[in-house]
Amino acid sequence: MLSMRPNCECCDRDLGPGAAEAYICSFECTFCESCATGSLGTRCPNCGGELVRRPRRPLALLAKYPASVDRVLSRSRCAPGA
Ligand SMILES: [Zn+2]
Ligand SMILES: [Zn+2]
Repeated sequence: MLSMRPNCECCDRDLGPGAAEAYICSFECTFCESCATGSLGTRCPNCGGELVRRPRRPLALLAKYPASVDRVLSRSRCAPGA
């Protein structure tokens, strides 16, 4: 199950579980669309894996399977200027 991290690792933008513009790698490093498709070139800066659009979790299931609230930030690994 995805943990559904709440923010972009690069720019710290909020990415709620209903956000359509969240991108993740296979380790669930999480980025917003502008970082993922822009400076990162749809490649994860942590593991080198591809970034794909994260599926949304239906609201009805969020009560039972809540999204993560642990914010992860790794600005230093992001492309310069990001
Ligand atoms: Zn971002
Ligand atoms: Zn990764």
